[in-house]
Amino acid sequence: MFDKAELFRHLPSVDLVLREPAVGGLIAIYGRGMTVAAVRSVLDKTRRVLANGGISEGCAKGLVSIDGIVDRVGMLLRQQNSPNLKRIINGTGVIIHTNLGRSPLSAGAAKAVADIACGYMNLEYNLEQGTRGWRHDAVRELLCSITGAEDGLVVNNNAAAVLLTLSALAKGREVIISRGQLVEIGGSFRVPEVMEQGGAALVEVGTTNKTRIDDYERAIGENTALLLKVHTSNYKICGFTGDVSLAELVALAAKHNLPVVEDLGSGVLIDLEKIGLVHEPTVQQSISAGADVVTFSGDKLLGGPQAGIIVGKREYIERIAKHPLARAVRVDKLTLTALEHTLREYLDPERAIERVPVLNMLSQSAEQLRKRAERLSEMLSGLERYCRVSIEKGYSQAGGGSLPLEQIGTMLVCIAPLEISVNALDQRLRQSERPVVGRISQDHYIIDVRTVFDDQVGLLAERMKDVLSGGKG
Ligand SMILES: *Cc1c(COP(=O)(O)O)cnc(C)c1O
Repeated sequence: MFDKAELFRHLPSVDLVLREPAVGGLIAIYGRGMTVAAVRSVLDKTRRVLANGGISEGCAKGLVSIDGIVDRVGMLLRQQNSPNLKRIINGTGVIIHTNLGRSPLSAGAAKAVADIACGYMNLEYNLEQGTRGWRHDAVRELLCSITGAEDGLVVNNNAAAVLLTLSALAKGREVIISRGQLVEIGGSFRVPEVMEQGGAALVEVGTTNKTRIDDYERAIGENTALLLKVHTSNYKICGFTGDVSLAELVALAAKHNLPVVEDLGSGVLIDLEKIGLVHEPTVQQSISAGADVVTFSGDKLLGGPQAGIIVGKREYIERIAKHPLARAVRVDKLTLTALEHTLREYLDPERAIERVPVLNMLSQSAEQLRKRAERLSEMLSGLERYCRVSIEKGYSQAGGGSLPLEQIGTMLVCIAPLEISVNALDQRLRQSERPVVGRISQDHYIIDVRTVFDDQVGLLAERMKDVLSGGKG
């Protein structure tokens, strides 16, 4: 046992630490107030560790040494001043990656948000008349002209859109839905639970693989509020299956004077076949098939900010907008700005494919992908001592529960590190200043170049060099 009291006496005072030249450097960067607080915090923590004991004498001496303390003050200040949320390089090939922030915004949308963010703006102010305006006016006409709907409204996300719609249109009444559409979207969005929260009673019809129009018809009663169709966006039922089309549902609902609500999930606004993918139902199709209300996400295949978009017939949109829950799930000015600018790109679908990153990534040609993979691999030449690099064919994923079966051919840059393990490579890339997230397959670290922006290739190569050649990046 060593003499604790002796060590406590050795602990320098706050003033003494502040007089160290290295700490002077920290004051110049972070300011005196923050540096003094960091010194106090490090000294307090050191005292607690010493008091708790359980460490060796050598370790304890290191703890109270002035150099050790100055180092820890510097570390604490750097940590306090570096953001928790930062831009990363996505090498996973998952385009709508919920853990990585789903859709990257278009340059136009990002610029608009930056312009609006630090000033005042006309969120609820009608500049023409000098009177109070409606928050949703900024996107209402755009939504109507793009989707063909009569009216529209935006809330926090699609989960909120479904909850609000059911609360406003079906509380205390019955909602009819096919058993094949009782989906879980991931995280905790389960259709039956959302309906329960919305105060609606679920009436399940049909079976998992087959539902017929008569199944719906038999379930309609005097307490029926609406017919709900949920797009099974994240799985497919194959084989002996049968579902009722939206048009059939609309015809049945009209006979009974009931509305049809469709939760489309992804909210595609262009024909994906145009960019070589499978057909995915579009919002325009749902509206023209006669759906009364359609809800979808802003940050899945639409490629905008997190938002829940509700479009449809005016009488229903008005009821939804007036419901008290609408205030609880309302959208903020930054989201609305980003959404307005994203939607504007869709006024010309060709322009949307070029400028909305999600669509642009989905539509990359094999040639573009091969060139980018070659560029990255060339930039990694000279690292022969540390790794082997090869280019392979592989598959990207749309992600976000969208297009679950679509195999999207891509190019992978495969890196087999020679001096460190592939897990160590992965960890160092994740923890570097501009983090990189890729995939691991056996002893290869894999970068799918589809989700790496052209202007990130150089940076990615630099990170890789730093990390492989032993630096911390
Ligand atoms: C993704 C999805 C949701 C949830 O949307 P969020 O915008 O993530 O809240 C709801 N329904 C369907 C069918 C979905 O695919």
